[in-house]
Amino acid sequence: TSMAEDLKTLEGNFRQHNKSCFILGASGETGQELLRALLGRNIFSKITLIGRRRLTFEDKAYENLIQEVVDFEKLEDYAAAFQGHDVGYCCLGTTKAKVGTEGFIRVDHDYVLKSAELAKAGGCTQFHLESSRGADKNSNFLYLKVKGQVEAEIEALGFDRYAIYRPGVLLVDRQESRPVEWVARKFFGAFSAVFSTSMSIPIQAVAKAMASNTLLRPEQKTEILENTDITNLWKSAGK
Ligand code: NDP
Repeated sequence: TSMAEDLKTLEGNFRQHNKSCFILGASGETGQELLRALLGRNIFSKITLIGRRRLTFEDKAYENLIQEVVDFEKLEDYAAAFQGHDVGYCCLGTTKAKVGTEGFIRVDHDYVLKSAELAKAGGCTQFHLESSRGADKNSNFLYLKVKGQVEAEIEALGFDRYAIYRPGVLLVDRQESRPVEWVARKFFGAFSAVFSTSMSIPIQAVAKAMASNTLLRPEQKTEILENTDITNLWKSAGK
């Protein structure tokens, strides 16, 4: 049988367990796609969005979502929002350009780690983290170092299952302007046949791979999906 067929079977089994999940960063580029992918697969009986603001959706498919608006600076006070989920997804992140070095560390490290801790304490057994290509706690680059640190600290929390995704440059028609990404997009877009598997990836691929991977049962507790792994999973699971 093909992987796509196997996933259909796994999907059916998974659905019967009435699991619930939460998404951090559902308003972001990857998060929006992840939400779409999870709703499309219909594998959760409850999906909760945890964010700093309430989101509005027009489509009927979104009407059963639960939203928890939290203050990430006082996350301890919102422990209840993280209680009782089986699976957690994190697509949270900001940039140094937007909020400075300290702000970047607060979001991409502190908020992410605290959320994972609260989720673990609240009974969550499976955690999916969108990190980055090149994440390395020993890197000299702040961005990669912070990503690598938070990856490792979450691993130490001991989720039954923990998946780290390390996409390359995210290919997306972003609304806000990010000049470096724009140039990268033009470049990788033009040569996507050559580079797509190692350097860049469409956000839909990341999102769909995260959704598909939820259904799989890897041997190791912690798995790292590099850009190529994400692309392969996306392709074999049926785009
Ligand atoms: P976006 O920038 O599109 O979305 C970021 C999300 O994080 C939004 O939901 C946003 O909420 C939330 N967020 C940002 N700042 C804060 C804050 N201070 N408090 C609360 N929530 C906040 O994310 P992408 O999809 O582009 O990226 C997702 C992840 O992937 C990030 O961790 C990024 O570092 C990583 N990554 C990105 C790559 C790229 O090429 N861009 C490459 C590899 C990895 P709100 O809508 O309220 O602002």
